[in-house]
Amino acid sequence: MVVNRFLDYVNKQLENKRLAHVFLLETNNMELCYKEVCEVIKSLNCPHKYIKDCNEECNLCYLVDSESLPSMVKIQADGAFIKKNQVLELKEKLSFKPIYSRYNTYILLEADKLNVQAANTILKFLEEPEDNILGFLITTNKENIITTIKSRCQTFSLMYGDVVDSDESMREVAKSYLEKVVAKKGLMVNRLDLDREEVLTLFKNMLSLVKEDVIKNNFLKIDDFKKIKIMDLIENLLQKIKYNVNLDMLLDSFYIEVGRIING
Ligand SMILES: [Zn+2]
Repeated sequence: MVVNRFLDYVNKQLENKRLAHVFLLETNNMELCYKEVCEVIKSLNCPHKYIKDCNEECNLCYLVDSESLPSMVKIQADGAFIKKNQVLELKEKLSFKPIYSRYNTYILLEADKLNVQAANTILKFLEEPEDNILGFLITTNKENIITTIKSRCQTFSLMYGDVVDSDESMREVAKSYLEKVVAKKGLMVNRLDLDREEVLTLFKNMLSLVKEDVIKNNFLKIDDFKKIKIMDLIENLLQKIKYNVNLDMLLDSFYIEVGRIING
């Protein structure tokens, strides 16, 4: 759902050999912004030329998603502030050359919460940039970041629209998709161009639509016990989406299984 403007921007910089070493990202949604940064980190490091949905065999993308890539360090406020020892730890971790990835990366969530000592420590780090280290400072409150830090960062604004809107449209997508799968009794249904997060939202929406329909009975023209079987199926697939299963295979198995339930 998120159009990755930032990723395009970073790729352009890289193409022109002008990649900044630290970005200050101003946002209204910390979580979505963090996700977008993860996409950028994957894109810059993935040995399989990460495009949209890197396949499940890619260890690097998996490690980024599960926040366990050793060369990627994330810190956020410990209580009210990001403290000096957190920044020192970060520097220590990034002092080793990356083994699995091209870059060492660090992410500061709520970068406006750096206390004075921590800000001074990070500043020294920013003053002596190293080629293989990339930083992302994320904030919803840019005004509270000291000027000396701001002036050393490449600033980029990542604002997100009302999340409810996108949920609403995904509900419509889910409704027509489910309708088609049920109507075609599991025969071929067109592929959807969705990423993992969107497929997750699609299935969650389908689950709530089927649940509603068991009570209201005005949408799916099938028996209640078949609806309940479909609900079980969706719940099962929702578990699988969280692991890195192939999305096309997952959708394939969805309409094959729905076909079995309807025809059976
Ligand atoms: Zn990958």
